[in-house]
Amino acid sequence: MSTIHSVAVIGAGMAGAIAARHLAGAGVNVLVLDKGRTVGGRMSTRRLSGDLSFDHGAQYFTARDPRFVAAVAAWVADGVAEPWPAEPGWFVGTPTMRAPAEALTRDLDVLTRCTVTQVHRDSEGWRLTVAGGEPVAGGRRFDALLVTAPAPQAALLLATAGVSLPELDRVRYAPCWALMLAHDGPSPLAQTFWRGSDPAAPVAWLAQNNTKPGRPARPVALVAHASPDWSRRHLEDEAPHVEALLRAEVAGHVGGALQATAAVAHRWRYALVETAIGEPCLWRPEIGLGFAGDGCLGGRVEAAYLSGLALAERVLSDA
Ligand SMILES: Cc1cc2nc3c(=O)[nH]c(=O)nc-3n(C[C@H](O)[C@H](O)[C@H](O)COP(=O)(O)OP(=O)(O)OC[C@H]3O[C@@H](n4cnc5c(N)ncnc54)[C@H](O)[C@@H]3O)c2cc1C
Repeated sequence: MSTIHSVAVIGAGMAGAIAARHLAGAGVNVLVLDKGRTVGGRMSTRRLSGDLSFDHGAQYFTARDPRFVAAVAAWVADGVAEPWPAEPGWFVGTPTMRAPAEALTRDLDVLTRCTVTQVHRDSEGWRLTVAGGEPVAGGRRFDALLVTAPAPQAALLLATAGVSLPELDRVRYAPCWALMLAHDGPSPLAQTFWRGSDPAAPVAWLAQNNTKPGRPARPVALVAHASPDWSRRHLEDEAPHVEALLRAEVAGHVGGALQATAAVAHRWRYALVETAIGEPCLWRPEIGLGFAGDGCLGGRVEAAYLSGLALAERVLSDA
């Protein structure tokens, strides 16, 4: 007998998007809520002005598992992803990094700019409260709650219902400061991308976002990622200060030839998983509660997809 008819999914990153799509495809009534302005989570593209935009989170994704290989092939066929010739086997969302998540959540009930601040559970199911104290959908009950926020945020949210998933405490994330920088004239970076090998160095990654398919070729749009060590040391610094520091580092890296017309720094507090749970997902059928995300299998888009899919399959096996 089916007991799970309605599911609330917190988070519309890759894990939440595929979980919601898979459940909706099986006829479950799904509501997705995300605090961001758009879906996609860390698969994110920030527009600074006009055509000038940067993928300041995930840079590309690879596909090894046959299920994700098939998903990526479908996205390519639908025009929401393309290979990035920077390296064989690298893909990006087109025209933005979030395009695959947008495709997955198309036609679903999705509330963006909606921060869930409290969750409650009683004998009739789960209820959610969002920022401002508003009950979601007039206090509607959900048979199951799936949380796909980064593990520390998920744990805090579940604590509001007096519930804990102890595995969440094992997950560790490195932060990452990202610098988005527009440059006039020919690119100061000879390669499409550069990846550092010294973990103590300030800059770990530098790429020309404008070389990705579906992006304007000009101006040169550089994305720099600071190393985990450097990002930890500067975690609580103000963005303008970090921007100045990282800009100097990037200028040093490219030989001082930077003519920046725009520069913005963005802090990812939970960027890259350092320690994952090591299970595809968490599911507590007795209370209809699940967790998925890159905290389960590792810090990659593919791992987030496989985790979200695994959780949806577990829910359906109990439905
Ligand atoms: C700087 C950086 C570089 C990276 N580079 C790569 C790369 O090159 N290749 C690769 O494969 N991966 C990369 N990653 C990792 C990849 O982006 C993630 O593994 C993947 O996108 C995680 O997806 P997710 O669904 O688990 O989590 P997220 O994408 O973080 O989704 C979680 C969602 O939950 C929402 N949320 C959280 N709390 C609440 C709340 N209370 N209420 C409502 N919504 C909430 C958030 O807004 C977010 O949208 C990178 C990540 C970063 C940050």
